Amino acid sequence: LKPIHIIGGGLAGSEAAWQAAEAGVPVVLHEMRPERMTDAHKTHGLAELVCSNSFRSDDAQSNAVGLLHEEMRRAGSLIMRMGDHHKVPAGGALAVDRDGFSEGVTEALEAHPLITLARGEIQGLPPEDWDNVIVATGPLTSPALAEAVQALTGEQGLAFFDAIAPIVHRDTIDMDIAWYQSRYDKQGPGGTGKDYINCPMTREQYEGFISALIIGDKADFKEWEKSTPYFDGCLPIEVMAERGPETLRHGPMKPRGLTNAHQPDTKPYAVVQLRQDNKLGTLYNMVGFQTKLKHGEQVRVFKTIPGLENADFARLGGLHRNTFLNSPKVLDERLRLRAAPRLRFAGQITGVEGYVESAAMGLMAGRMAAAERLGRDFTPPPATTGHGALINHITGGHIETTDNNTGSFQPMNVNFGLFPPVDIPKGPDGKKPRGKDKQVARKHAYTARALRDFDQWLGLKPAIAAE
Ligand code: FAD
Repeated sequence: LKPIHIIGGGLAGSEAAWQAAEAGVPVVLHEMRPERMTDAHKTHGLAELVCSNSFRSDDAQSNAVGLLHEEMRRAGSLIMRMGDHHKVPAGGALAVDRDGFSEGVTEALEAHPLITLARGEIQGLPPEDWDNVIVATGPLTSPALAEAVQALTGEQGLAFFDAIAPIVHRDTIDMDIAWYQSRYDKQGPGGTGKDYINCPMTREQYEGFISALIIGDKADFKEWEKSTPYFDGCLPIEVMAERGPETLRHGPMKPRGLTNAHQPDTKPYAVVQLRQDNKLGTLYNMVGFQTKLKHGEQVRVFKTIPGLENADFARLGGLHRNTFLNSPKVLDERLRLRAAPRLRFAGQITGVEGYVESAAMGLMAGRMAAAERLGRDFTPPPATTGHGALINHITGGHIETTDNNTGSFQPMNVNFGLFPPVDIPKGPDGKKPRGKDKQVARKHAYTARALRDFDQWLGLKPAIAAE
């Protein structure tokens, strides 16, 4: 069999190589370090963790990333096997000894009879006779390759920084205060009247909010990030606030064209708009609210917005140097570049965010590439599973809009807002749970359904009882 070529031996590329080789397909894994380093990596090791040593929550019953851990374990993930093996105490999180972990991954890949590790940068597009390639070069993809990919996708197809506005679970927005309305009641094609949710502010609330943004604790840009031209058209909200008290009221928080459905006679002084973010309608993003405020500070300040007092954030805002495709536009449902289907993408470059999500997309890409080489069909796992929800988000579930100066597809962690809604089963007392119990029951219902469906997809006997 001709080998699959995988470019990038990070979290995604390492997992992809393992999965493809375990399926019986030879792999050449190309890693540019140590010949060429990135601004964040410090070692020669494969699957180096560039920052925190945490894979986040390991709770597979009530947390979406914990669920992804468990699905990966069941799919024979090398990243999870090594993560578990090099685990260090961290409460309910899975944290790892970073050096032991990376050495373990490197040794396992080097020892695999079907994997060849080739050190060296792939500069530009790979040779034409590499007919089955996975590009897993991550947020710090080397410039020569990134530019070659951008030449294929067009300028709108590959971004070099992210500008992430927070995303809120819709069912945690207080609709007794907020209301659905598009500005001037304009409906886009296929509009449902629920494209936007609006949160009103009085003058006093607005002024307090602007002060909170200005004094709020911000994260610094890393030295090497400072040269990136982040700000063309997507200033952080706090920088806009610093430019003058009226700037936001004439920008993303303008009240024009909006009437408070609950108080039609009182004109709001300012309005925070949230726009539907996924086709399921479970997630809404805060329009224009990309920010460098620290996460804890974002939760504190944004919960002062009327209607968001009890908001549960699926994602908090950020601005970083990154490299990611506008995947819903440029990738097909098998993660292949429409413009050059021999190139399949995996990891952070596909628009997922995080070590675990990147490795999960490597797991999928490795299996897809192997199936293609073996002439087998590949059906992705259903959107009710963690893996399926992520694939669905990056290739189809996201709503693309153009009326936002930040562009609308932005990197995403796994979260339950990406899953199709689930029925909450009745409790032992025969009644539907309420309040906090309802939230817990809902999470359990998501994960039970996901693991049952994932097992079925893997062809395993369900490990847990059906809901
Ligand atoms: P990577 O793990 O970066 O792997 C890509 C690999 O490709 C690298 O080894 C690189 O050397 C290689 N490469 C690049 N270009 C080429 C080329 N042309 N030829 C050959 N090889 C090439 N996520 C978290 O969950 N927690 C965190 O704390 C966290 N912190 C982060 C901090 C920073 C500074 C950055 C940039 C990202 C962070 N992330 C974090 C996000 C993300 O999860 C990680 O970047 C993750 O490593 C992405 O996995 P990946 O496999 O897509 O890319």
